[in-house]
Amino acid sequence: MKYQSVNRWAFNLWGGALDVREDALAPVTGHEVTVRVSHCGMCHSDLHIRAGGFDMGGGKLSSLERSGVKLPVTMGHEIVGEVVDVGPDVTGIVLGARVVVYPWLGCGECAVCVTGNEHLCMKAARNLGIQLPGGYADAVRVPHERYLVPIGTLQAARAATFACAGITALSAIRKLPETTADDWVAVVGCGGVGMTGVALLSAMTQAKIVAIDPDAAKRDAALANGATLAFDPGVPDALKTISKACNGNIAAAIDFVGSETSSSLAVNLVRRTGHVVIVGLFGGEFKMPLPMFALKSITITGSYVGGLNDLRELVALAQRETLPEIPLDVRPLSTVNQALDDLTHGRVVGRVVLQP
Ligand SMILES: [Zn+2]
Ligand SMILES: [Zn+2]
Repeated sequence: MKYQSVNRWAFNLWGGALDVREDALAPVTGHEVTVRVSHCGMCHSDLHIRAGGFDMGGGKLSSLERSGVKLPVTMGHEIVGEVVDVGPDVTGIVLGARVVVYPWLGCGECAVCVTGNEHLCMKAARNLGIQLPGGYADAVRVPHERYLVPIGTLQAARAATFACAGITALSAIRKLPETTADDWVAVVGCGGVGMTGVALLSAMTQAKIVAIDPDAAKRDAALANGATLAFDPGVPDALKTISKACNGNIAAAIDFVGSETSSSLAVNLVRRTGHVVIVGLFGGEFKMPLPMFALKSITITGSYVGGLNDLRELVALAQRETLPEIPLDVRPLSTVNQALDDLTHGRVVGRVVLQP
């Protein structure tokens, strides 16, 4: 079925509620593809996107508006669906194919994009669900067939979460050094992405995992997903307690929160020569005594979502072996505002996936 128009859940005011609107859809041209959305995951970033920016610390906010994002915005960047219309130049993708959509589109031409890292484009990001209309809709228009990864027989709701939570976790894990069975890796924050991190770490590394989250239900889910230990960061003397439980041998920490307290905990938890990967976008400022860089010889790295190749590899990995599964909370798209509210208040375990 070709869509001449599409129903999109969009906000037309920064911080405002989402309303459904009907937009005309021009006929596909060139390499364009229309995908009928069957599932779209909800990401914590959606809260920042709706708010219009990120907390940069010191009372400063980044602004999507200043960076050129125009209202109305249709969010949703974890999209799975069926190819229903293809442009005349499309090859290798057939009508009816079930695909997960890579949403982190760049200009395709700058020095970073040509290395395959379109998600880090230096020029003109064209992310689905931010600059371009995303998956909180009946259908989504994708500019080129190369952004589609067929999912075969994978469960659609799960494959949807690969496009952000999955590749964000995978690309952060890829930045860790080799670990042994005696090493520990700390996962700070066990929301949708952190939980995916726990699941992938247990499938991809030998190291033991210590999960850190204030929410007991999330800690339980992390233990079920392959973590050996789980702690509330609010316990008295958290740093000492967690370090001791891990024999003082935390080789790496991934901070899936990205707040001042979580990054400080992550940096202090790792042993000498430890690696810290900062992924979360909660916001704030990072402070650390400068001598500690040298004295501990630590490495601190940032990691933002992941590349198209990460998505292809994650789909292949999931087809090859059974990965531990993060909890999914599948809901109708018409309840998107309630779902955003639940996510705001930490009432979601695992990932919300919306269905039009
Ligand atoms: Zn996301
Ligand atoms: Zn670029």
